[in-house]
Amino acid sequence: MSSETHYDVIIIGTGAGGGTLAYHLAPSGKRILLLERGGYLPREKANWDSRAVFVESRYRAKETWYDQDAKAFYPGIQYYVGGNTKVFGAALLRFRPEDFGAVRHYAGISPAWPLNYEDFEQYYTKAEDLYHVHGEHGIDPTEGRSSAPYRYPPVSHEPRIQELYDDFERLGHHPFPLPLGILLDEENGKAVHSSACVRCPAFDGFPCLVNGKADAQIICVDPALEHPNVRMITGAYVRRLETNASGRVVTRVLVDHNGAPEEYSAEIVVVSCGAINSATLLLRSANEKHPAGLANSSGVVGRHYMRHNCSAFMAISKNPNPTVFQKTLALNDFYFRSADWEFPLGEIQMLGKSDGEMINGEAPGWAVWKPEFALDFLAEHSIDFWLQSEDLPDPANRVTIDSEGKITLALEHVDLEGHHRLTAKLKEMLADIGCHDQLISRELYLGKDIPIGGTAHQAGTVRFGHDPKTSALDLNCKAHDLDNLYVVDASFFVSIGAVNPSLTIMANALRVGDHLLERLG
Ligand SMILES: Cc1cc2nc3c(=O)[nH]c(=O)nc-3n(C[C@H](O)[C@H](O)[C@H](O)COP(=O)(O)OP(=O)(O)OC[C@H]3O[C@@H](n4cnc5c(N)ncnc54)[C@H](O)[C@@H]3O)c2cc1C
Ligand code: SF4
Repeated sequence: MSSETHYDVIIIGTGAGGGTLAYHLAPSGKRILLLERGGYLPREKANWDSRAVFVESRYRAKETWYDQDAKAFYPGIQYYVGGNTKVFGAALLRFRPEDFGAVRHYAGISPAWPLNYEDFEQYYTKAEDLYHVHGEHGIDPTEGRSSAPYRYPPVSHEPRIQELYDDFERLGHHPFPLPLGILLDEENGKAVHSSACVRCPAFDGFPCLVNGKADAQIICVDPALEHPNVRMITGAYVRRLETNASGRVVTRVLVDHNGAPEEYSAEIVVVSCGAINSATLLLRSANEKHPAGLANSSGVVGRHYMRHNCSAFMAISKNPNPTVFQKTLALNDFYFRSADWEFPLGEIQMLGKSDGEMINGEAPGWAVWKPEFALDFLAEHSIDFWLQSEDLPDPANRVTIDSEGKITLALEHVDLEGHHRLTAKLKEMLADIGCHDQLISRELYLGKDIPIGGTAHQAGTVRFGHDPKTSALDLNCKAHDLDNLYVVDASFFVSIGAVNPSLTIMANALRVGDHLLERLG
């Protein structure tokens, strides 16, 4: 077999999971091939243009998927080197220790993981260091033990957000600095001249024009490619995986490379296409030995899809809010319960600051009921919040494909009770935090097809576990049914907690990477 087509490891997808794994394996000298369907996200002025990013969806994949009623929708998904981390908000939080156990929710149980917080702790620390996470441990009471302080200090609050922080504390809450993966070096609230990040308003949902965001391309893929043993092919859409006659070994990786068929093979094949695309790749690869799809003798592949119940809101501050970099505060006081509700509600975070263009784009829905708020007034006075609640893994919430490869994403059961209560809590606080009494939905940020099109935090479709009857992957994220197939992205999640998923994906990639280094010898 040609050395150009046979490798020690093939990694399919270069996002939070695949990119981090590539970085971890690169120094081993093993021959590694990265197959990425996208190209590099273009660096251009439009990266920071909110009309191009949010109104025209310039960087979103041009794909059509279908819901359970066969209604077409346009998923919020990006295909680039670095995956969805190219546009992520880089809020990099650890799961809370309880998230690894069974948690009772209003609508059911969030199931226990087969590993616990301590199994992940050292990898969280490594992932935080790697992704330049700026934060401070020990302030949020829901946080677990950490074996080391963050290597980088928290991103400083601008005065209006510091005021909000103080107001929350005055009300008896426990705000904490939102941990952020960012290449920022600041002094007195300003980026120093050598800092990659310049603390601009375009953080959340935008690509970074100056490479200041700690995304998987900048932090992991580019450094991995400096090793002569690592190669990446972009524009390489993996169509199918084929196995040997026994069905135990993936022997061929079939690729459409810019439209032309190519074929590669490796001792170990790692699928890391994001939770929805990894599931569809496995389902598409069905063969005689795996009639329901690769790694799917349990029937769980594609099921238990989770994506957080999220809302984006503007509150209207009575005093102007001239904040440029707003995403510096979070609050977990309602993470597990509230004084009047015994079940989890979720997390409140700041969101990137809305500007006139975004507000203009979303105006029609609410301009009617608050005509006295001119658009300019809103742009100057808005404070933006992101609310995030856990979504339970339900087998009926699932990804499927038909014989032509058409993707259907069914959301049969969604419990929003905790999320509505979280929103009500924030509303209750508005007067006490110097805001007018209405929250305005930022639908443009969320995407018009929410909840179905809100695939940003997709997870859970190829879950790991001890039991091959109820999980697709073992504890090393190797398929129970195959000897050389791994899945290292958000698919392996058993539950999703109410914190952003990426740090757990990155930590797990480092954990699985240690196993692979041992296996490769
Ligand atoms: C607007 C936005 C904001 C977000 N903010 C945050 C945040 O603040 N904090 C946080 O933790 N998370 C955030 N997320 C979520 C985060 O980006 C994802 O959780 C994370 O990127 C998922 O990692 P992954 O490895 O599972 O998949 P991805 O990062 O999506 O990577 C999958 C890769 O596989 C490639 N691929 C897919 N199919 C194929 C195929 N068939 N062949 C070859 N390549 C393929 C894709 O092009 C992509 O590069 C945000 C996401 C979005 C969209
Ligand atoms: S805030 Fe920093 S990292 Fe974010 S887009 Fe601006 S310069 Fe880039």
